[in-house]
Amino acid sequence: MHDVIIIGSGPAGYTAAIYTARAGLKPLLIASSVEAGGELMKTTEVENYPGFPEGLMGPDLMANFQAQAERFGTEILMDDVVEVDLKPTIKIVKTGNGKTFETRSVILATGAAYRELGLPREKELSGHGVSWCATCDGFFFRQKTIAVVGGGDSAMEEANFLTRFADKVYLIHRRDSFKASKIMQERALANPKIEVIWNTEISQLHGEAKLTGVKLRNTVDSTTKDLELDGLFIAVGNDPRVWLVENQLELSPEKFIKVDGRSSRTSISGVFACGDVIDPTYRQAITAAGSGCVAALDAEHYLQDAH
Ligand code: NAP
Repeated sequence: MHDVIIIGSGPAGYTAAIYTARAGLKPLLIASSVEAGGELMKTTEVENYPGFPEGLMGPDLMANFQAQAERFGTEILMDDVVEVDLKPTIKIVKTGNGKTFETRSVILATGAAYRELGLPREKELSGHGVSWCATCDGFFFRQKTIAVVGGGDSAMEEANFLTRFADKVYLIHRRDSFKASKIMQERALANPKIEVIWNTEISQLHGEAKLTGVKLRNTVDSTTKDLELDGLFIAVGNDPRVWLVENQLELSPEKFIKVDGRSSRTSISGVFACGDVIDPTYRQAITAAGSGCVAALDAEHYLQDAH
C-alpha cells in the first residue's frame, strides 16, 4: 500500500514528488512511457523560470526536476496509467504494463494535451509535414517554407524557433491581433523570416503521402486561396487531460478538474489535482510547480488526519 501516487511528470507532478518525498511519504510517480517530462520536453529555451537568469532548455529543466525528486527518494515509473478507481478510502491505480497499485491518496498532475484543428487527414499527415512540436521536428525543415497556426505564446515561440531552420515561416492567425504576451509578439513581428497572415483559418490540408500546402479561408470576407508549404506546425492551445477521471470526479464546465477554492482538493477525499489539468488561466511552468506544492501539502495533511 502506498501513501501517495502521483500521476504525471511535468512541473506540477515533480514538485508534488519533491515535497511529499521530503515529508517522508515515499511517493510513487507514474511518469508516462512516452511523454515523461510533460510539455516542457517539447519546448526550447525557458527564459521565465525564476532562478535561472540565463534561461535554460525545457528538457534540462525537467531533468533537474526529476533529479531533485529522486534525490529525496521518489520512485519513478515510466509507465502509463490506464485506469483508476478513486474510492474515498483506498484508491486503485492500474498501468499499461499490467501493474496494479493501492494507495491512500492520489495526486493528479496529468496536464493538458495539444489541440488539433479538426481538419480531415490531420492525423494521417502528422509526421508527414504536420507537426505539434517545433523542437522535435524543426530540424527536418531546413531551407523550407513552413507555417505556424495560432496566436498565443506557443505559436510565437514556435515561429521564432523555426526560423533557425526554415527560410520562410508564415504565422497564420484567425483574428487581427495576437493573444500572446507583448514580448513574444514583438519578437515574432520583428523577425524578418516571419510573415503574419491575419484573419485567416486553414480550411483544408493538401498532399497525399505528405503535406504540400493548405487552403486558407479569410475569416472576414470568406475568400479562399491556396498556399504551398513543406510543413505546418499547429500551436492552437491545449485541453486538460481528464479522460482517466472524467466519470469519477467533478469537472468544471470547460472540463478542468474542479478543486475546492485555492486548494487542490477534488470532489473525492484523498484525491488531489494540480497543474494544467486544473488551470484554465495561467498555465505556466512556475504556476504548475506552485500548484504541485499545494497538492503535496494537502495530501500530507490529509494523510496525517486519516492516520
Ligand atoms: P493559448 O494561449 O490558448 O492560445 C491559443 C491560440 O490558438 C489563440 O491565439 C487562439 O486564437 C488560437 N486557436 C485556438 N483554437 C484554434 C483553432 N481551432 N484554429 C485556429 N486558431 C485557434 O495557447 P498556447 O499558445 O499554447 O499557450 C498556452 C499557455 O502556455 C498560455 O498560458 C501561455 O502563456 C503559456 N506559454 C507560455 C510560454 C512562455 O511564456 N514562454 C510559451 C508557450 C506557452 P484566439 O486568439 O482567437 O483565441
